[in-house]
Amino acid sequence: MNICAIVFNFFLVMVLLLSASVAWAGDVLEAQCSCGYFKTGLFAFAGRSNYRDVCMAPALCKATGEVVLCNILDDSKASPDCPLEHPAIYGGPDLPPLNPTRDIASWFLQSRGIAVHITDGAYTCPRCGEVSLRFRKIGSWD
Ligand SMILES: [Zn+2]
Repeated sequence: MNICAIVFNFFLVMVLLLSASVAWAGDVLEAQCSCGYFKTGLFAFAGRSNYRDVCMAPALCKATGEVVLCNILDDSKASPDCPLEHPAIYGGPDLPPLNPTRDIASWFLQSRGIAVHITDGAYTCPRCGEVSLRFRKIGSWD
């Protein structure tokens, strides 16, 4: 093994370690709309101990008029905070963002072909129904 191969392998290992640690940290989000709706403390995605079975994605519950979190790795895709069977997932086909320019939070689970993107675009508000809800990342958790 020549020196280039050794340096390359070291670099590759570091990249893998860094990406693994990033993949374990969920994001804490808040959602705010111009109508006054505000929800904070949304512990999205997953942490170090549960990332294999849990991916909590922000979703819209039409029954309660709230942004809820929904485990999209659970086959039922139900949320403990929403009585409806299938809350609509933000960023999914039913609730795409309006005018997104970048991701503010995202989650990839390559082994299950799952990617969730929350962008800086506007989303449907659960309270007023206008596409004027915006998410903000306020921290990370694991
Ligand atoms: Zn609103």
